[in-house]
Amino acid sequence: MNYDSSMGLLEELREILGAQASLIVDPEIVSSYSRDQSQLATHGNPKLVLLAKSELEVSKTLKFANSQKIPVVARGAGSGLSGGANAVSGGIVISLEKMNQVLEIDEVNQLARVEPGVINLDLDKEVSKLNLAYLPDPASREWSTIGGNVATNAGGMCCVKYGVTANHVRAIRLVMADGEVITVGNPLKKSVTNLDLLHLIVGSEGTLGIVTEIVVSLAPRPKPATTLIATFAGIDSAMKTIPELVALGPSMLEVVDETTLRAVEEWKPLGFEGVGTVLIMQSDDSAEICASGAAIAAKHGAIDVTYSDDPRDSSDLIQVRKLAYPALERKGVALLDDVCVPISKISNLISKVKEISEQSNLLIGIFGHAGDGNMHPTIVYDHGDKGAEQRAQRAFNSIIKVAQELGGTASGEHGIGSIKVEAARSESGERIIELQRAIKQIFDPNGILNPGKKIP
Ligand SMILES: Cc1cc2nc3c(=O)[nH]c(=O)nc-3n(C[C@H](O)[C@H](O)[C@H](O)COP(=O)(O)OP(=O)(O)OC[C@H]3O[C@@H](n4cnc5c(N)ncnc54)[C@H](O)[C@@H]3O)c2cc1C
Repeated sequence: MNYDSSMGLLEELREILGAQASLIVDPEIVSSYSRDQSQLATHGNPKLVLLAKSELEVSKTLKFANSQKIPVVARGAGSGLSGGANAVSGGIVISLEKMNQVLEIDEVNQLARVEPGVINLDLDKEVSKLNLAYLPDPASREWSTIGGNVATNAGGMCCVKYGVTANHVRAIRLVMADGEVITVGNPLKKSVTNLDLLHLIVGSEGTLGIVTEIVVSLAPRPKPATTLIATFAGIDSAMKTIPELVALGPSMLEVVDETTLRAVEEWKPLGFEGVGTVLIMQSDDSAEICASGAAIAAKHGAIDVTYSDDPRDSSDLIQVRKLAYPALERKGVALLDDVCVPISKISNLISKVKEISEQSNLLIGIFGHAGDGNMHPTIVYDHGDKGAEQRAQRAFNSIIKVAQELGGTASGEHGIGSIKVEAARSESGERIIELQRAIKQIFDPNGILNPGKKIP
């Protein structure tokens, strides 16, 4: 069979999967599955897209692709920001978006069993009817899939209290490169029988297998949060406030810098003119925690401190954080970075990023998760300005290097994908890289699964 053309591949897969399989070769539609939301990542032209409807289809496709050494890229909603779901030329994209059923909600054991294409927020809405919650809350939760969240180990604003996706995944069904299906992990709350293969798969970005079913843990629905907002004239006083707020055990703690505040004010004035830094904290434990937070912020010289336990006020108070990225994005091409540093080093990161902004003559706004040090410096440049684009790429890499020098890491939640492979190499010792390659070799000896991503 000739797989040089899409038609040859289509015929073969039709034979294997049957006429009901959703196989796409239309170049325009195929091209819409060839990349994610990353501005920096390159992508190839896949030959074919399978909109998988069952684990069996995924398994048969991988078995065939493995025998022919055809590269395969798994895809959820394509909302990734690191090129992780970007297609490889000549390969197959397996989209899991149609495998979107909540298979079981186990109220007694506080678990849900889902297909990978279930949208994060849809699951949370479903379990809210039982007064339960699916807690991982990436800002993309309205459209990103749980399979994608698991593959990237997605974070969000609640991580400071509830942790990342990995903390809420109990078991995974995984189709391996040769088509065999295994289950890793265990729905039980405690199990130490095997090596922790579950957490090897979480965050592996589609390089070790394709996730076809996930058991996640649910939690009693948290109480509506009390929200505190504190404004500061500069950065230093806000930075001194952060560790003391973290010590209170908030369910959210976010920071927005002056450059980002100006972008928000230009677009949707909220009354932050002249403000240097904003901190926003939430507690779903008690209003007293926010009262203590207000006293701490005032002690460190906050210009203004407000808190409220009325959910309508809460949504107004966090508005500035929600608008941070879109406000920068509307000013040009926005390169959203994602580095994580110890919270004691956030101020060093911010001042170094300001230096990079001045040296490269680029607008760089900084906002992010102050409670865990995961910051999103966002570089903005004019559409079509090639010189600025090159400076932006250099600035992007310089920010990663600064974070690493501060004891931080190249990615806190968006993943390595294709754009940060070099950064992962410089951050990891040779032995760690060798170990990762050896693991990859065991799971995927022919290297067909998302080649060139994640593992240096
Ligand atoms: C506006 C915006 C805000 C965002 N906010 C956040 C945030 O707060 N926190 C955060 O962590 N991320 C955030 N992201 C990034 C992105 O939404 C997350 O990385 C998300 O987890 C990706 O899910 P997805 O379904 O879109 O996966 P995709 O982008 O389709 O894929 C992501 C990676 O997972 C792999 N993959 C997907 N499905 C499977 C599967 N079933 N089996 C194996 N591998 C698979 C892909 O190959 C790829 O490597 C944001 C993105 C945008 C555009």
